[in-house]
Amino acid sequence: YYNQDTLIYLNGEFVKANNAGVDMFGQSLHYGYGAFEGLRAYSTHNGTRIFKAEEHFDRLKESCKAIGLPYQWDNRELIEKSYELLEANNLRAAYIRPLIYSGSNMHLTASDKANIMIAAWEWGPYLGQNLLKVNISRIERPNPKSFPIEAKVSGQYINSILATSDAIQKGYDEALLLDQDGFVAQASSENLFIEKDFKIYTPPLGNIFPGITRNTVIDICKDLNFDIIEKRITIKDIYEADSAFLSGTAAGIIGIKQVDDVVFAEEWEDSIGASIQRKYKNLVLEQENYEVII
Ligand code: PMP
Repeated sequence: YYNQDTLIYLNGEFVKANNAGVDMFGQSLHYGYGAFEGLRAYSTHNGTRIFKAEEHFDRLKESCKAIGLPYQWDNRELIEKSYELLEANNLRAAYIRPLIYSGSNMHLTASDKANIMIAAWEWGPYLGQNLLKVNISRIERPNPKSFPIEAKVSGQYINSILATSDAIQKGYDEALLLDQDGFVAQASSENLFIEKDFKIYTPPLGNIFPGITRNTVIDICKDLNFDIIEKRITIKDIYEADSAFLSGTAAGIIGIKQVDDVVFAEEWEDSIGASIQRKYKNLVLEQENYEVII
């Protein structure tokens, strides 16, 4: 897990988290004006491999661009530093968290300078391994017109924290959030898939966060010849689904057993989602088709 002795990468150097210093006038700290990523490194037969590192650092750059935060790094440099960080912390498998944040600025205007921090720590599947009980949250996803919702922007996660805390307080594990039109968009930090009559459905881009694991799931469906359809999902659709699951880098692929008080009839082990989950686990542990950096 992480602690203050963990080595982090900070603006070109490796330092103890404890010695990083936090700017009390930091714009990111006060206003959530920052962008971040979540990657995972797996211990594979060929050593430690970060899954889809290029895609994650591309998205980090795009997230910064979307909110006007300066970004002066290139993928190769950051991927190399991420591997060095894993070595420095003796990690073979880890969750990796780059964060771009601005310094002193109490104005509500874009900053012209940004910092980079990368941390890594050992982290099991974010939502555990058991099938989930989720609720349809009273909290909605942010309106895409208020905010670049496709960007992984720090302030956006207040929405996730509120929805998840509310779900846990009501005895659920995670929340499903509606979009501004009342369709089921996604979970607080995972994308949503449902199975109905041997087909897989997932909400289209536009009102959701464009998950990299979501893309991987779509590719797996195509590989395994499962029908995958991008379509808006109603509350009724999800109550009447045969099965459902969530996808995300931190959580992996995780099955849902119950939405509100509706329990899915199909056993998870018999679902298409379970086959996708197995394939995903193999993919991240083998990574034969992905570029080897170090
Ligand atoms: N939705 C939100 C809001 C997220 O923060 C994440 C995690 N970054 C996801 C979905 C899943 O995205 P990914 O598969 O790229 O981890």
